[in-house]
Amino acid sequence: MLILMKVNATEAEIQGACHRVEELGYRPHPLPGATRCAIGITGNKGAVEADSLSQLPGVAEVIAVSKPYKLVSRDMKPEDTVVRFANSEATIGGPEFAMMAGPCGVESRDQLMRTAETVAKSGARFLRGGAFKPRTSPYAFQGMGEEGLRLLAQAREAFGLLVVTEAIDHLSLALIEQYADLIQIGARNMQNFALLKLAGRSRLPVVLKRGMAATLDELLMAAEYIMSEGNYNVILCERGIRTFADHSRNTLDVSLIPSAKRLTHLPIIADPSHAAGRRDNVAPLARAAVAAGADGLIVEVHCDPDRALSDGAQSLTPAQYDQMAVNLGGIAALVGRSVYQPTAKAAR
Ligand code: PEP
Ligand code: MN
Repeated sequence: MLILMKVNATEAEIQGACHRVEELGYRPHPLPGATRCAIGITGNKGAVEADSLSQLPGVAEVIAVSKPYKLVSRDMKPEDTVVRFANSEATIGGPEFAMMAGPCGVESRDQLMRTAETVAKSGARFLRGGAFKPRTSPYAFQGMGEEGLRLLAQAREAFGLLVVTEAIDHLSLALIEQYADLIQIGARNMQNFALLKLAGRSRLPVVLKRGMAATLDELLMAAEYIMSEGNYNVILCERGIRTFADHSRNTLDVSLIPSAKRLTHLPIIADPSHAAGRRDNVAPLARAAVAAGADGLIVEVHCDPDRALSDGAQSLTPAQYDQMAVNLGGIAALVGRSVYQPTAKAAR
């Protein structure tokens, strides 16, 4: 159920409607839109008694939401969500394409600083890097843990980047909240509902990666878990799915991008690195994602990829990343977006 407030509804009327929803024993989710506020209702087992709500001052309409997801739905919020940050010009979902780049995992101070410096120079506003790595083998590099988060925070200060890093459980999530700017939920945890609920109680935006065998509906329901706890800053991420194809690590499902855009107001970015599995395929997939309407990219870059402790084969060199970012500018312009280029570089 969804309450649509009148265009000229006052703050007091919005509060009043939220209060009534609470009195009925449900949870209100006021989401201000470009022209009017919508209030999503969750926590109801069956139909909500619409009559007692439609008569309230300032209420235009009470409508049933037929889809299983409510807060993520475009019915709830027709205009695109733009995620913003307190101390940065970066946005996700706005006209500027969101570029996130960095190593698969934080390995050392030197590796992270060298890589972060180059991606910042190439115009990335977000630094990626895992401190807690979910690896197929228990014997593979598991990440540096809290020390890795400390290094990420140092790189943020040094180069003015926002940090996005993966939480794999409640302990890592609590630490990430102290050090980072965005929480990444990885493909393997897309349906870890306990973790999704915790991320939903965080003040940090969440990058939610699609599970490797998850449908769009399942991805949207996972996002709904986060939003239902009150965190409305969710960014979906297409990172490739398992198919019969054996020429690449995964298959980038480009068609998910416009399909998701139709159903949800949430931004969606693409991860061409984990889809490709090999670095020469990363830039072509990135171009396809931009052309299909993605709101950003998350790309693995390593200052010395052949010595990387994880995902080196798919990590771009800094020079390759720079070239890709320049080339993406042209495609972004065709779809009405821009790719940020620092002034020093633009003047070059
Ligand atoms: C990663 O970003 O390094 C990662 C592990 O991604 P995914 O969860 O998509 O496999
Ligand atoms: Mn990786």
